Amino acid sequence: MDCLENLIFDKRFNLLSKGVLQPENIHISIIGGGLAGLVSAYLLAKAGKQVLLIEKKKYPFHRVCGEYISNEAKGFLKDEGLLPTGMDLPHISEFQFSDTVGRQTTIPLDLGGFGVSRFVLDEHIYGRAKEVGARILEGLQVENVRFDKETDSFELELSDHRVIRSEHVIGAFGKRSKLDKVLEREFIQRRSPYLGVKYHIKTDLPRDFVALHNFTGGYCGINAIENDRFNLCYLGSRDQLREAGSIPEMERMFLWKNPKLQRIFNESEFLFEKPEVINEINFDPKQPVENHILMAGDAAGLITPLCGNGMAIAIQSGKLAAEALLRGGDRFTIESNYAQSWTELFKWRLWVGRNVQRLFGSRGVSSFTRTLIAKVPLVANQIIRNTHGQPF
Ligand SMILES: Cc1cc2nc3c(=O)[nH]c(=O)nc-3n(C[C@H](O)[C@H](O)[C@H](O)COP(=O)(O)OP(=O)(O)OC[C@H]3O[C@@H](n4cnc5c(N)ncnc54)[C@H](O)[C@@H]3O)c2cc1C
Repeated sequence: MDCLENLIFDKRFNLLSKGVLQPENIHISIIGGGLAGLVSAYLLAKAGKQVLLIEKKKYPFHRVCGEYISNEAKGFLKDEGLLPTGMDLPHISEFQFSDTVGRQTTIPLDLGGFGVSRFVLDEHIYGRAKEVGARILEGLQVENVRFDKETDSFELELSDHRVIRSEHVIGAFGKRSKLDKVLEREFIQRRSPYLGVKYHIKTDLPRDFVALHNFTGGYCGINAIENDRFNLCYLGSRDQLREAGSIPEMERMFLWKNPKLQRIFNESEFLFEKPEVINEINFDPKQPVENHILMAGDAAGLITPLCGNGMAIAIQSGKLAAEALLRGGDRFTIESNYAQSWTELFKWRLWVGRNVQRLFGSRGVSSFTRTLIAKVPLVANQIIRNTHGQPF
């Protein structure tokens, strides 16, 4: 935030403190309506709490994500009616891995998962959250959030200049938001080399597997989603994009070196006019509570996509944040309860995910990894077990 913005906010804040302006009072505000935010809004509203969720985009919308959900989350989603019904969602039980030159191995998955697009899933949970009484403001961004010690509450400033005063805040604003800068979070000071690209395609592949195809500098996931479609999503590098000059050229120069990927790109129908793209994807550790905000989902830490369970973690951490607020107590107790359960459930898994990512994206290492998976499938299962939790 620059000085001028700071000044405007301070002025507004002073007017609010003097009672000249009237803020809207809310019990719990949730910033960001991805899976973490929507799930916490749903659970808190269902329990009778007054909840306001603010999402900068308008539903439904696409976002960069592999759209393979680990079965860890399936029971919870089903029990709460948060799983879209009436759709044939593919059950995924096999894992296929190819090294940068396209040599592949397939192993069964212990727990497995299913595929569903975020376009469909997020909109469904958004509908359920509204049904149980959550208030949702769409198309508005939270520009600033500040904890005021004197009133023991937060002030949120929205992009339409509305000010919300809130007793509690859940930060579910994803892997990277302007609020990370406002809050001066440590990870945002460092640049990240990763970018993410996503397409929906129609292709002729089995619907019960999730594939990870390596290429120099990254890896590309493919799995079935609803309506006979597939998701194709890769983690690539900013330097390669700069070198190639455009996304199609980067794909030809780097991804297509893996013959598996070349064939899929050439033989599939691409359904988006242009891909969804995000950059500066950062896997550095973050804190589950900062500035008294309970951080949930990627805002608390992003697991590397190869693990295929960032969504399950987002859903479960949204649930934990809601549970910590429902359990109640003073602010210190709520924050400690949340930080403790978050750390117990996720910290180790995120660390393993960061380190396993080193086994991807280069010829020698990806080839070694493929051989290891083929010869000792137990190793792959051990990695999966260490990055996944129990069904919740
Ligand atoms: C390339 C890639 C592939 C992946 N593939 C998979 C996969 O196959 N399976 C899997 O389980 N996980 C996968 N993940 C991880 C998964 O996408 C994330 O972990 C998950 O989306 C996190 O959900 P979230 O609710 O925390 O954040 P998000 O879904 O990112 O939601 C955050 C929301 O906050 C909003 N927002 C941000 N700032 C503000 C603001 N100031 N005011 C208002 N709103 C704001 C944003 O618009 C956004 O809607 C992948 C990630 C990447 C990068």
